[in-house]
Amino acid sequence: MTQLNEALLGILACPNCRSSLVVDYEASELVCAKPECGLAYPVRDSIPILLVDEARAPGHRRVEVPETAADDVTHVVVRAEDE
Ligand SMILES: [Zn+2]
Repeated sequence: MTQLNEALLGILACPNCRSSLVVDYEASELVCAKPECGLAYPVRDSIPILLVDEARAPGHRRVEVPETAADDVTHVVVRAEDE
């Protein structure tokens, strides 16, 4: 996707929690930087769609969590995304 304007990114915020957003160029998404929120907003034709209704919840990513790591779900998710 086309590079997003950095100045634009600086003023954008998650409409759900008002945290800053990071660009995921591979997925063409703007992802909320707040781990407890983590909503991913789609970018269409270089225009970020900052609507909670359009956002993808992080829980939609299917991650196998071993029972022993149930207390540590955040770290399990981070490792899965690194692969
Ligand atoms: Zn957020």
